[in-house]
Amino acid sequence: MSGAEVVPFELERMFLGDTPPLFLLEIVFRTAVIFLWLVFLLRVTGKRGLAQLSPLELAIVIALGSAAGDPLFYPEVPLLHAMLVLGLVVGLQRFLSFLVIRNERVETFIEGLPVELVRDGMLFPQALHLANLSREDLFERLRVEGVRQLGEVQRVYFEQDGNLSVFLQVQNAPPGLPIVPPWDLEPPPSVLAGALVAGPVACTHCGAVLLTAPPPLEPLPPCPRCSRDTWTPATTDPLGERKRSGE
Ligand SMILES: [Zn+2]
Repeated sequence: MSGAEVVPFELERMFLGDTPPLFLLEIVFRTAVIFLWLVFLLRVTGKRGLAQLSPLELAIVIALGSAAGDPLFYPEVPLLHAMLVLGLVVGLQRFLSFLVIRNERVETFIEGLPVELVRDGMLFPQALHLANLSREDLFERLRVEGVRQLGEVQRVYFEQDGNLSVFLQVQNAPPGLPIVPPWDLEPPPSVLAGALVAGPVACTHCGAVLLTAPPPLEPLPPCPRCSRDTWTPATTDPLGERKRSGE
């Protein structure tokens, strides 16, 4: 349809276009398919940590935005079609929300599960990967909570809405992997397996802590938890340690 043929305020074109009324039923089908596909795609991208919206919420924003835009200025997009799509998207969203509340399996599928990232100062590298978070991202978010080294952390859960729940070791935190100063500014000093070191060391990959044997010193083994071979000195207070060593 070219612009020259448009007769302004022609009601049939505005509301129905050239389509037969049964096409409205096809729109119901199309909208349901696309909206559910959108929810699914947003779910598998796993970007919830950055978006701060659930896949369902993000899907409704995208679907409403695109369905609301076209009829505003394309004369060949009938209003009834757009109104039907908008109403359906809202209806589908309410229906899915209802299912999420009612049914745990639907909830798990659409919103995902909380993921345990840290337990007793040790990281779960697989879980980090699953949550689409780098170690530096996690450390940054823990520093915001005032954490200096992982021994201070009892549990960290990556929640379904993308937030972290952090449970700290309230008293007598054991030494752990230092996360200050930020690794992006200054990587922690590394000690390779085989070296002779006095004092506790933490695995830079998984945070496991090894208390070294008393003298005579024995060579450091690879990490018993993740079998990597890079350690770093572990203290209860990495910043205080730096002060004492005169930096
Ligand atoms: Zn390790």
